[in-house]
This record gives sequence, structure tokens and C-alpha cells, in this order.
Amino acid sequence: KVQVEDLHKSFGDNEVLKGVNLNVKDNEVVCMIGPSGSGKSTFLRCLNKLEDPTNGHVYIDGYDISDPKTNLDLVRQNIGMVFQHFNLFPHLSVLKNITLAPTQLKKADDAEAKKQAMHYLDIVGLTEKAAAMPSQLSGGQQQRVAIARALAMQPDVMLFDEPTSALDPEMVGDVLAVMKRLAQQGMTMIVVTHEMGFAKSVADRVAFFHDGLIQEEGTPEQVFDHPQQPATQSFLNKVL
Ligand code: ATP
Ligand code: MG
Repeated sequence: KVQVEDLHKSFGDNEVLKGVNLNVKDNEVVCMIGPSGSGKSTFLRCLNKLEDPTNGHVYIDGYDISDPKTNLDLVRQNIGMVFQHFNLFPHLSVLKNITLAPTQLKKADDAEAKKQAMHYLDIVGLTEKAAAMPSQLSGGQQQRVAIARALAMQPDVMLFDEPTSALDPEMVGDVLAVMKRLAQQGMTMIVVTHEMGFAKSVADRVAFFHDGLIQEEGTPEQVFDHPQQPATQSFLNKVL
């Protein structure tokens, strides 16, 4: 589903990604952990070509996203992305935030898009907020709308970049619960997170990112309980 081969990314002479390899299969949930500045966000952004890789390959459903023959718009429609800051359109209602992309990019008709939007709002537990404006929602609610908005494009893969780290602590649980349910329903997910409890209980695999490389990866048990690399051990000592 997602194949990354020897991915390099430099900003000027700052080499941020130094040859990352990762394979994510259908229905798999991979959590990425690692210190600030290690390249996790840059890595996620390379997966849908928000950043142009300097070298290496990213295949999404077999399509090489750097190949000029690949229809990047179509590939991107199949990748949902949720960021730390929810980036809802402030001037649009919750419902409109969700129906905008399906009606404009997938040419869904209005009634169908609305029905779908209500379905995804139900999944994130916010049907009663359909008519609200983003500014009337809490941070956690906004983030759940952002998740519903991404789901409304019916993506094959969901990328999450620290979706809970800008939230007040009491909001974190609801967002993680939505993500956990998605995972249980078989969504393929790559999640950059500082929520070690979430990674332990939801990830099929955990990848430890350090200094532009995946230094260690394995099951949550392997990485959390029996880390092999000194860098992993020292990171876990700080965060656990
Ligand atoms: P955090 O946990 O703090 O979010 P991260 O692992 O996501 O960190 P990145 O945001 O990927 O780290 O940044 C990795 C490095 O790349 C940093 O040194 C950063 O300064 C650099 N970098 C990221 N984006 C750019 C950019 N657009 N231009 C120049 N340098 C950048
Ligand atoms: Mg980041």
C-alpha cells in the first residue's frame, strides 16, 4: 500500500531524511515516534508530495508519486492527512468543511455529499455540530471534524501528524478514541505521535525515528519493552 525506498530529503545542505525505508501493508497501523527535529513531519509530507523528495521513491498503491506520468491529484485524494493544527476553513460550517472536497474534487452531488458527511460526523461523534462554525467548537471537536473531513474523501490511507499534541489534555482521549476505532475498522494508518499509550495499544508496528532514519522498528512489545538501539532506549527513558 505504502512503500518507501531510500527516501532522502535535504533543505539546502541540511539533510533531514537520510535514506528511509518503510513498507506499510493494507490495514496496518504504523506509529512513528522519535525526538523533535528528527524528520517525522518531513517524512509524512513526502508521502503525498507536500515536500519533494531529494532522492528515493514513494509508491502509493503501486504508483510512484515522483513519476510525472502519475496523476498526483488522484493519488492525493486517496491519502487523508490530519495535522496538529486542524486547519478547518473558518468561514464554513462544519458540514460545509466536510462536503467541500467531495463535491468539488469528486463531483459528488450535494445531497449525497451531505448524507456522507453526516455519516462521518456520526463516526466522530459530532452530528449535533453539523451547522456550527469551527470557532464554536473546542480544539478536540475541531480535530474530530478534521478527521471526518479527511474520511469523507474515502481515502485508502490516513496520515496523522501529532493530531493531539495541540489539544488540552481533557480533549486528547476523544480524538484518540476515534483514531482507535478507525484502526479497528481496518483503516491503513501512519501516525506520528507522542502518545506512547496509544502507540502501544493500537499500532501493529512502531518505528523509532532518529536523525533522519528509522533506527528501529518492530511490534510495540519489541520497541517499547525490548529496544535494541541505545538511541531508542534513551528516547524511551525520557518519554515513558
Ligand atoms: P517535531 O517532533 O518537533 O514535530 P519532526 O521530527 O517532525 O519534529 P521535522 O519537522 O520533520 O521534524 O523537521 C526536521 C528538520 O527539517 C528540522 O531541522 C527542520 O528545521 C527542518 N525543516 C523542516 N521543514 C523545513 C523547511 N520547509 N525548510 C527548511 N528546513 C526545514
Ligand atoms: Mg513534526
